[in-house]
Amino acid sequence: MKTETEILVVGAGAAGMMAAIAAAEEGAQVLLLERNDRAGRKIFITGKGRCNVTNACDTEELFSYIISNEKFMYSALYQFHNHQIMEFFESKGCPLKVERGNRVFPVSDHSSDVIKVLTQYMEKLKVKVRYHTLVEDILIGEEGKIKGVLLDSGEQIFAKKVILGTGGLSYAPTGSDGKMLKILEHHGHQLVEPKPALVPFELKENLGEKLQGLSLKNVSLTVKNGKKILFQGFGEMLFTHFGISGPLVLSASSYYAKKAYGKEVSAVLDLKPALDLEQLDKRILRDFEENQNKQFKNALDKLLPAKLIPVIIEYSGIMPEKKVNEITKEERKRLVFLLKNFEMTITGTRSFREAIVTQGGVRVKEVNPSTMESKIIPGLYLAGEMLDIDAVTGGYNITLAWSTGHLAGNNAAWSCKAEKGTV
Ligand SMILES: Cc1cc2nc3c(=O)[nH]c(=O)nc-3n(C[C@H](O)[C@H](O)[C@H](O)COP(=O)(O)OP(=O)(O)OC[C@H]3O[C@@H](n4cnc5c(N)ncnc54)[C@H](O)[C@@H]3O)c2cc1C
Repeated sequence: MKTETEILVVGAGAAGMMAAIAAAEEGAQVLLLERNDRAGRKIFITGKGRCNVTNACDTEELFSYIISNEKFMYSALYQFHNHQIMEFFESKGCPLKVERGNRVFPVSDHSSDVIKVLTQYMEKLKVKVRYHTLVEDILIGEEGKIKGVLLDSGEQIFAKKVILGTGGLSYAPTGSDGKMLKILEHHGHQLVEPKPALVPFELKENLGEKLQGLSLKNVSLTVKNGKKILFQGFGEMLFTHFGISGPLVLSASSYYAKKAYGKEVSAVLDLKPALDLEQLDKRILRDFEENQNKQFKNALDKLLPAKLIPVIIEYSGIMPEKKVNEITKEERKRLVFLLKNFEMTITGTRSFREAIVTQGGVRVKEVNPSTMESKIIPGLYLAGEMLDIDAVTGGYNITLAWSTGHLAGNNAAWSCKAEKGTV
């Protein structure tokens, strides 16, 4: 069986669906192939099922949240930026709201509404969609130009342009298993080693047993490789059975992946970032004066969450049964220092299965930033997480997928028109 279309898009994720839409809006005949039985399986689970569609910050500011290759993103983000993304969803029937940190969500709090808008609009634009369709290879013509794709069934589908939006390696059960990256490597593209990012850390210390489930707010975390600071941030974190997680830790992991992946590094937790050493010492002195005859182990409940007290006592080296009025100045200073410098050892990250995004992917030097066309295989366009682009949390990663998808779709369609001589 031989199918032909003008534009073939692979992957019904954020990048692929937006690419299909942008191409169809320019009048192109579009066929979208997806291995799953439905579109947007990853979108469905984003933002804890609410989908953080984008971030409402100034477009200029967006670049500062991109970790890998922000300059590559200039054309894509200015051509279809965060405010245009918001306008797109609202105009297509998905009203949005802006929450803390400028995070944008559907008013309904349902990611399914984001997917619905995309699939309905694709239908309106007459984009053909084939589910249960696994692409196994790309087909390249004699002059090195793309000519279509090969399915696992052996079927070949021919197209003038092919857009890949097949994602990275994270959360593989959603469909993005990274195999397409290997296929591109086989056809001459270079990859930047894919690494799990926005992912929890594993710790050397066995803190999980005692601290699992403890959530800390308003703490500061510094991740260091020797003396070199890889990340410093303020916010929320969580202890788990294997190590640490939570928003602060996820952000830290992306910088760790970039600068020290696979290395053992230290994480220094400041439990009282609002107070300096001297202020904290005064505060503890006050607490101790009020509890002079109590044992040390019973004198910390105003200062720390219950789960943390035995751990801090153990690390402080102060006898738990010691009367507070017997604690020496030196011991108190040691406690103060510990509360502001609670040190843990990061041995690595959790796997791709638990990583919100993949860092690395197709080397962006091999992709035209103004069109998303491959410089290695003419007629092939690449978009979304499969590229070596990633950002911190806050709606930025999906924004990169919408923007690159839109740019790829738009340019693939214009290129078709130019070849037909209709522009
Ligand atoms: C739990 C979780 C929560 C997240 N929350 C947010 C958030 O709130 N905000 C945010 O900005 N980002 C978030 N992200 C990240 C964001 O979802 C992704 O960066 C983005 O969706 C990537 O889109 P994509 O289209 O490039 O890839 P994907 O969404 O991975 O789509 C790729 C598609 O291609 C299909 N495919 C793959 N290979 C083939 C093949 N060979 N043949 C046919 N089809 C194929 C897959 O089935 C899939 O549908 C989250 C990620 C996760 C895992």
